[in-house]
This record gives sequence, C-alpha cells and structure tokens, in this order.
Amino acid sequence: MFKTVLIANRGEIACRIIRTAKRLGLRTVAVYSEADSAALHVKLADEAHLIGPAAAAQSYLVADKIIAAAKQARADCIHPGYGFLSENAAFAQSVADAGIAFIGPPPSAMLAMGLKDRAKALMEKAGVPVVPGYHGERQEAKFLKEKAYEIGYPVLIKAVAGGGGKGMRRVDKHADFDTALEGAQREAQSAFGDARVLIEKYITAPRHIEMQVFADTHGNAIHLNERDCSLQRRHQKVIEEAPAPGMSAALRAEMGNAAVAAAKACGYVGAGTIEFIADGAGGLKSGGFWFMEMNTRLQVEHPVTEAVTGVDLVEWQFQIAAGDRLPLKQDQVPLNGHAVEARLYAEDPERSFLPSTGKLIALKFPDGEGLRVDTGVSAGDEVTPFYDPMIAKVIAHGKTREQALGVLANALDNTIVAGPRSNAGFLAALCRAPQFRQGQFDTGFIDANLEALGATPQGLDKAAAALGARELLTRERCRISDQIERDADAARSPHTSPWDADDGFQLSGPRRQIVPILADGEKATAQVIQEARTTTVTIDGVAAAADAVAVATSDAVYVLRCGRQTKVAFRDLSLDEGGDGSSGGTVRAPMHGKVLALLVEEGAAVTRGQRLAIIEAMKMEHTLVAPLDGTVSEIAVAKDDQVAEGAKMIVIVAKEQ
Ligand code: ADP
Ligand code: ADP
Ligand code: MG
Repeated sequence: MFKTVLIANRGEIACRIIRTAKRLGLRTVAVYSEADSAALHVKLADEAHLIGPAAAAQSYLVADKIIAAAKQARADCIHPGYGFLSENAAFAQSVADAGIAFIGPPPSAMLAMGLKDRAKALMEKAGVPVVPGYHGERQEAKFLKEKAYEIGYPVLIKAVAGGGGKGMRRVDKHADFDTALEGAQREAQSAFGDARVLIEKYITAPRHIEMQVFADTHGNAIHLNERDCSLQRRHQKVIEEAPAPGMSAALRAEMGNAAVAAAKACGYVGAGTIEFIADGAGGLKSGGFWFMEMNTRLQVEHPVTEAVTGVDLVEWQFQIAAGDRLPLKQDQVPLNGHAVEARLYAEDPERSFLPSTGKLIALKFPDGEGLRVDTGVSAGDEVTPFYDPMIAKVIAHGKTREQALGVLANALDNTIVAGPRSNAGFLAALCRAPQFRQGQFDTGFIDANLEALGATPQGLDKAAAALGARELLTRERCRISDQIERDADAARSPHTSPWDADDGFQLSGPRRQIVPILADGEKATAQVIQEARTTTVTIDGVAAAADAVAVATSDAVYVLRCGRQTKVAFRDLSLDEGGDGSSGGTVRAPMHGKVLALLVEEGAAVTRGQRLAIIEAMKMEHTLVAPLDGTVSEIAVAKDDQVAEGAKMIVIVAKEQ
C-alpha cells in the first residue's frame, strides 16, 4: 500500500478522499490556490502546498506545479478527484514519469475514452450499442447540417471534447441548426480549446443510466450496479439515485455486461463510469440503451453506489492502484436498499439558477440515520466565482426509494445556508414531486416542471420578511439595553433591560410603529405592535413565520424558510430618493463572469429584449438583453474582461417618446 497521497483537487471531493486515505493510514497532502488558503481540505490534510493564484488555470490545472509539490512532499501517489486534471492523459503520464502512482486508469485508456467521437468508434467495434449519429472527422457547417437532416430531428450537437454538459445544443428543426452549431462550437472552443463536434439522434423521453465499473491490473472487471441520473438541468445532474427505478435484474445484467465490455475494450484499470442514454418511453427495456461516454475517474455521484453496495470506492481505488485484485466477484456485489443524492448549490433557482457567490454566513446540516453529507466548506467560508459553486452533496439511504426520498427531503428542509442563495428548497420540492416519486420522469422533467418546483420568481415571502423585521428590532433592543446595562451602576440586576421592564408602554396601551425595511432588495413596511412582553410584526397583514430560522449579521437578518432565503435589513428612507429610475437603462453583470462577446457598439439603436452581450460564469453562458428601447450611450467593458457581480456593463438611453 502507499504511504503518502497528494490530492490534486479541492472542495468536497478532496475532503472525501482525505477521509478514506487517513482511515487507511496514509499521510495526506493537499494543494491549494491563494483563494483556498483557509479551505477545509487544507485544514484536513496533514500537509498543504500553495500552488498559485485563484484561477484554476494557474493553480489546480497546472500539472508541473502539482507534480513538484508531490515530489517535495515525497508523495508516492496522486489522487486527481474529479474535474480539473482527472481526465487529462498527459497529466497521468507525467505523474507516472515522475515515478509517482496515478490513482486512475492508464493514460492509454483515458486517451481512448477522452474524446467522444473516438470513444464511440471504439465502442462500435467492441459491440457496445452507441447512439446513432455522425461522429466522423468532417466539421464543415454545411456537411454537419446535412448529417443532422439525415439523422432526423431532434438531434443533439455535442462537443467531441465535452464534459459537464458544456458545448451541447439540442436542435429541433433544420432552420435552427446553424445558430445552435455556432453556439456549441464557441462554448466548446472556450471550455476545451477544441471546437469539434459530433451529432447524435436526440433520444426522446431520455433516461440517463450509468454503470459504475471497476477493473484491476490482473484482467478482472466488474460493475457495481447502475445509477439513474435523469434529473438534470442543462445536461447537468441534479439528483442521482441507485438503483434506477424500473430496472430489472435481467436488464441490469445486460447493461452491466455492456459496461464491462466497454471497460475491457479500452484496457481500463480502476474506477470508471459508463454512461448510457436509455429510451424511457414505456419503461426501461432490453436493447433500449446506448453508450454515450465513459468518465475515466471517480464520479461526483459515487456515494449512492457506496450506500447500496457498502463499498468505499476510494479505498478500492487505492487498492487497485497498489496492484491488488478486485475484492469482490460480480455475483458478490451487494445491492441493499435505495440511495439518493442531491447536489446542493449556491445558486438562485428563482433567477434561472444564477450562481450566487459570497460569504457563507451560516452553514448547518442535519444529521440522522441514513444520512451522509459530503462538503468542502464550512460557515465563514466564501463561495467564490473561481470554482464550481457546489456547497455539498446530501445523500440519503433507506430500505426503499420512498423512504430514502423522504429522509432526503426532510434533510434539505433542515439544511441552513445563509448568505449565498441555495437550491435547497428546489431540491426538496423535487424529492416530493409526485411524478418523480412514482418513478415517472426523464431528463426533461425539471424543465417541464419549473413552476411547480418553485424555480420561477416567487415574490416576497412576507411571513419570512416579517420574522426578519422582528429579529432586527429585537437585536436593536438588545444592543440598546446592553449599552444601558454597561452604563448602569453595578447595583442593578444585569438581567433587567428597559424593554422587559413594566414601564409606561402598556399603561398607555400597545405601542404601534411602522418600520421601513428592505426585503430581498424590495421595499416593504413592517407594522409593529409592542405590548408589555410581546412584539407582533406583520407585513401587509401577514404574521411572522413560525417555521423559519433567522441568522443575523451586523446589518441584516437572513431568514431561511423551506430552503428559501429572505434577506431583511432596515431601510434608510433618506436613500430612497433617486434610487429608482436612474438605473433603468444601465445593464449590470448579473454575476461574476467573463465577457465573451459584445453584440452592440456605442451609438447603436437597440430594442427592448435585443441581445447586447454574452458573459460566461462558471458553467454557462448568459445573454444580457436591452431592458428598453433606446440608444447605446456607453459600453463600460471590453471583450474578455472579468466583471464583478453588479458591475456596470452597458448604458442605454431611452428612446424619446
Ligand atoms: P459527473 O459526471 O461526475 O457526475 P458532471 O457530469 O456534473 O459530473 O460534471 C462533469 C465534470 O465536470 C465533473 O468532473 C465536474 O467536476 C466537472 N465540472 C462541473 N462543473 C464544472 C465547472 N464549473 N468547472 C470545472 N469543472 C466542472
Ligand atoms: P457530458 O460529457 O457533458 O457529460 P454527455 O454525453 O454525458 O456529456 O451528455 C450529457 C447529458 O446530455 C446526458 O446525461 C443526457 O441527459 C443528455 N444527452 C446526451 N446525449 C443524448 C442523446 N443522444 N439524447 C438525449 N439526451 C442526451
Ligand atoms: Mg456525461
């Protein structure tokens, strides 16, 4: 076995790997960027090395720096986690050349599976069913369009080098093909430095079902059952589970055999995942699934497999890399109960899931039987725009699917994320969605049910805002009474404050107050009635919520109710004037990001809704549109600039009426 492992990653996966490595008695070495000097993975590791500035391209993606740190720390193996360099064959090769073991497959297997076109060709040869389409060399737009027509719409354009759902466009009709191709190519070029695409038949009612595989260096390969990852947004997984609803033992064996054949065909070693797309119309069935791609690494959603098999996949990864044989034979692989994982993100479901950065004012997870939380952050940490804004993975395991979903939904209700917005409420709603509960869903489920899942603007939660206002007032009183206590003479009981005292208030009846507040940036007015010992706060007649948690900072209160956050602060009336209107024509960056394209020039006439610029933030491109008809009077940014959330980008002067 190894003695020292360097983890070439950050966040929850680095923490998760460190946990198993420590249990196995390994010394653990973390690497970190300047933005991560106080990160959890750095604290957990026995030793940590700074490898550069915040931008991943200058730190977590620089192979040389990571290998230098490994040498310095005398690490005898490197675990790449997922993302970053995990599927980079050149990195795996450099690690091996440095005499360090790479915890993953041989570079040749990564190369064979790394590009989707090459992988599909190899799979065809190995007799694994692949999605029909074009995955050849030719890339001329006209030719690809002809191919799309031949395949038959709808089709899916995919980046050959794709991953994380990027560089992918569904096209429903011939007329839309050119625009979609352009978008896919641009995204692919910027994300992967490779604009090449392939075209696939879009499978209708698609279910994403993947098989966890494992192979050792002695020629053995098995699968550890499937995961269903059909709940997706923009081709990215949101909730994953094992086993897949509606999966029979016979079909599991059929898919498992195909997956094992795929792993063998590329000379695979270690943990990998074969992703299949299944035709879910009328239920899963024999012959109704096709190879999409192989992920040659540990998968984000591996904990659901761990829950139902009882296997620690990271432990197996270390054992296999050390030359051990697979600990189990295919027929010994357990499948116990049902497990579901939800990806908790710092994002705002009510604003098209925009990433939401900032300091985590509070972060608390429930614990309980059948519950596992994998996280890489704690309260006080910052969610930065530099990396994936995942806060945690919450995983529930139960005897039945029904039970696991129930445990997960309750856990999400009781998860406290204050500061950045989170998708906790949305995830809980998903767990409770009746059709999903009944196992009737495909990859279009989320998009088709946004409204029912609360992923559209919900308006101000007045009950939450009223609670926030009450908290603000209580804190203000405490501050005042603290001050009075400090000033008072020593004889006075420290527990008596003027607010508790039976003073004049109730003698002249309840005291009424109107308090202007700002709730989620919206102006509101709290009606306050103070009696001797109670304070009642309402907003438009709605009483303060009793089922919420309030977290206070020096200038605001964050109220969390059913996974939804309402931020409440006192409103300074003197600042109200001129606050509105003046910003009417100013287009601001909705989040931290990079300006990919400017689509207008100064002086151009624009109409409301016209596209002005494209910015890219973390995972996605976002289009900014003109808020009104008018003329572009100022462009405050340049192409390729990094912009901060709220930064002025473009100013439109309204057209004269
Ligand atoms: P998985 O297939 O392991 O469930 P996903 O399909 O969601 O994971 O994502 C694919 C890969 O892309 C993962 O390795 C993930 O770490 C990575 N990834 C996701 N979002 C980002 C991002 N914003 N920046 C870099 N890598 C990302
Ligand atoms: P990535 O490397 O970005 O993960 P994948 O090829 O795995 O790309 O596809 C991502 C997701 O897109 C899948 O999980 C699935 O939901 C959807 N998808 C991919 N191919 C098809 C297809 N041919 N038909 C329907 N949906 C598809
Ligand atoms: Mg995939």
